[in-house]
Amino acid sequence: MSTSLYTPDRDELAVLLQGEPRYRLDQVWAGLYTQLAAPHDITNVPKALRERLAVELPTSLTQVVRRVSDGGDTVKYLWQLGDGSRIETVLMLYPDRVTVCVSSQAGCAMACGFCATGQAGFTRQLTVGEIVEQVVVAARDARQMQRRLANVVFMGMGEPMANEGAVWGAVQRFHGAIGLSARHLTISTVGLVPGIRKLTERELPVNLAVSLHAANDQLRDELVPINKRYPLDDLMAACADYLEAKGRRLSFEWALIDGVNDRASDATELAALCRRFRLPAHVNLIPLNPTPGYPTVGSPKDKETQFHSRLIGLGVNATVRRNRGTDIDAACGQLAAGQPVVLRGTPN
Ligand code: SAH
Repeated sequence: MSTSLYTPDRDELAVLLQGEPRYRLDQVWAGLYTQLAAPHDITNVPKALRERLAVELPTSLTQVVRRVSDGGDTVKYLWQLGDGSRIETVLMLYPDRVTVCVSSQAGCAMACGFCATGQAGFTRQLTVGEIVEQVVVAARDARQMQRRLANVVFMGMGEPMANEGAVWGAVQRFHGAIGLSARHLTISTVGLVPGIRKLTERELPVNLAVSLHAANDQLRDELVPINKRYPLDDLMAACADYLEAKGRRLSFEWALIDGVNDRASDATELAALCRRFRLPAHVNLIPLNPTPGYPTVGSPKDKETQFHSRLIGLGVNATVRRNRGTDIDAACGQLAAGQPVVLRGTPN
């Protein structure tokens, strides 16, 4: 894949700037990641170099749709990549923080039946540059609204731990160049154990979110097919090791599906699982967003409340996440698939 503006790290950019005075590297790097400027706007750099950069390091994302929710607190972007594939990014403005939800792959190979991206299948891995550019553009947009982007969640399209190398390259850029704190970066995984193990060895303590959705293997095999390869015992052991190594927050995502995983027994099993592995996890309950390829709907409000109170009663930390951006067709994979949908809530 040809390189793009946000792909090279500092050393790679230094190679590209060979022959230029040494301070140019600092100027360009600060221009891209501190000022969040496009090359032609890095005005302390000579025009000829700006033009060279723009040609040699083109951007990756062409905007197809930019949709703002009624209240203006959610911005959804649909991007087209060089090869024509499409990905989504969502910027969420809360009273106390600004979070961007990024995609890590075009499509996804994990085939979770209830997920629009899973239903559409896998297209390809995203590059470091394509992941970083999503954040730079969102941060720039937030700044225009007098807000500062501080949080990144890998909860857009794709399975980040199936593209760990590029995801980690992007994480390093967010931390080292843009200056985001590791505790404000969250990687959400379907539960790829080798990916979690790899993450455990990485130096930065980012937050780990695991899309659990079921606390017994039989049900999880159905909802999240990769569970057949990495069953709950292996997954929980990897989570416990991550927690021990990093001391970071662990969260479980649980999309509440009517009559499927919102029963009293599901709450009891979840509490037992957390106890058995001594995992002080925080459970994020999200009512399922309807998708065309999945017959069952989200739990009604009363069942959601009941499930939540059950968990609390069993000593499990849990929060019900509210849906966001209901008016802007915003949920992972669904804008790309051209279907009107509801945006999921996010942790934090
Ligand atoms: N592949 C990663 C990250 C992307 S999905 C993962 O599985 O964690 C982010 C979250 O949205 C996951 O918890 C996923 O299970 C959930 N999700 C997918 N489709 C959904 C839907 N239709 N309704 C509610 N949550 C959904």
